[in-house]
Amino acid sequence: MSKHGKLKIIPLGGLGEVGKNMTAYEFNNQILVVDAGIMFPRNDMLGIDYIIPDYEYLRKKADKVVGIVITHGHEDHIGAIHHVLNDLPVPVYATPLTRGLIEVKLARNNAGSKAMLNTVEAGDSVEIGAFKVEFFHICHSIPDSVGLGITTPAGFIVHMSDFKFDHTPVDGWPTDYAKLAEFSKRGVDLLLSDSTNAERPGWTPSEMVIGPAFDKVLTEAPGRVIIATFASLISRIQQVADAAARHGRKMALAGSSMVDNVKIARKLGYLDIPDEVLVPLDQALQMQDHKVVLMCTGSQGEPSSIVGRLSAGTNRQFDLKPRTRLCCLRIPSPGTRRRSVIRSTACCAAAQT
Ligand SMILES: [Zn+2]
Repeated sequence: MSKHGKLKIIPLGGLGEVGKNMTAYEFNNQILVVDAGIMFPRNDMLGIDYIIPDYEYLRKKADKVVGIVITHGHEDHIGAIHHVLNDLPVPVYATPLTRGLIEVKLARNNAGSKAMLNTVEAGDSVEIGAFKVEFFHICHSIPDSVGLGITTPAGFIVHMSDFKFDHTPVDGWPTDYAKLAEFSKRGVDLLLSDSTNAERPGWTPSEMVIGPAFDKVLTEAPGRVIIATFASLISRIQQVADAAARHGRKMALAGSSMVDNVKIARKLGYLDIPDEVLVPLDQALQMQDHKVVLMCTGSQGEPSSIVGRLSAGTNRQFDLKPRTRLCCLRIPSPGTRRRSVIRSTACCAAAQT
């Protein structure tokens, strides 16, 4: 509250839940939106591909929305952007990789032609209506992630988004601690911080520990290795490519969203995968099994993903073999459509949101 008016902060998704992140900052007649993500359905939500935030509140005040700022390119932060832009055709602000992933998503949904996309970099400061937004780099499992320092007439807010204080990040780009210190000196009126797993004692190891885990799997696996992750988990894809190269295996991608995301990330220089390591899926399926790593979607058992189809025996291009090693971020709960997962050897690489 200031003498000029009252600031409302309205979480439309992502608070007390993992997924569909979307927050609205409203001051007088202006609304700034941060993120527009999806949530993946639970196993009992049959026929549902994904869940979007309920942004009816914004639809009713569409003429007051001044812009959408996106913190990073994970699905739970950009996945609903084409739906939101359809109802709220406002400017979007994102860093280069995040913008590239948004463009892929808009193109896949025939929604790209009218979008007003603006590129920002960590360190930039942009006035969006009554809000001044300072973008600062935060370390996360996808490059080009930013936190936000939001100056409003009612006070200064730090919006962290997803982050990890990882001192040895995969992309070598740690969180901008100096900027956080500067904010602290300036005086922060409100901190909105990610808290996934915050109740658990101890600390989360660096993403670097995944490298030796992959080395172990790739050394021991006698046949094909299938690694499941989110299509937007760019840093994990880099780690798999590095591991495949170290072990003389070729990497192939299954799933159009992963193929498209890797293409844009390589083009923009956020993924460093030599041409000789990455081969088309058709080619990989003709190679000897122990020379191949397949990356696919479905680490949380989403029914429409490749792993979801593999577990149901309905994937068209390839199926699991008895000696296939399947690595998931999370193994689906037992009891439902899991015949192939059960007959494979499974291992858990790491939990990640
Ligand atoms: Zn994230």
